[in-house]
Amino acid sequence: MLQIRPTCENCNKNLPFDSQEALICTFECTFCLDCVHLLQHVCPNCGGGFEKRPIRPSHLLKKYPPSQVIVYKPVDLQEHLKAIKKNE
Ligand SMILES: [Zn+2]
Ligand SMILES: [Zn+2]
Repeated sequence: MLQIRPTCENCNKNLPFDSQEALICTFECTFCLDCVHLLQHVCPNCGGGFEKRPIRPSHLLKKYPPSQVIVYKPVDLQEHLKAIKKNE
C-alpha cells in the first residue's frame, strides 16, 4: 500500500494526501513539484523517474491513513546533477 508520506524529502514542504504537487518514484521517494524540477525529474535515491502521487479517496482515509513519518534527506543538488550528467 502507498505510504503517502507527509512532506517533500528535499525541502520538507508539507504534502498532504490530496496535494496536487506531490510526486513519487517507484520506491515512493516523495518530492514536491519544485524539487522534482530541480532534480531534473531523476530520483536522487534510485535514479528512476517520478509520477504524480495518486490521491486516496477520502472515505478510505480512516481505515488506511496516510503516513505521518517524515523522511527528510536534503539532496546535494550539485552532486546529483553531476551524477545525472555522468549517466547520460
Ligand atoms: Zn520540495
Ligand atoms: Zn527513488
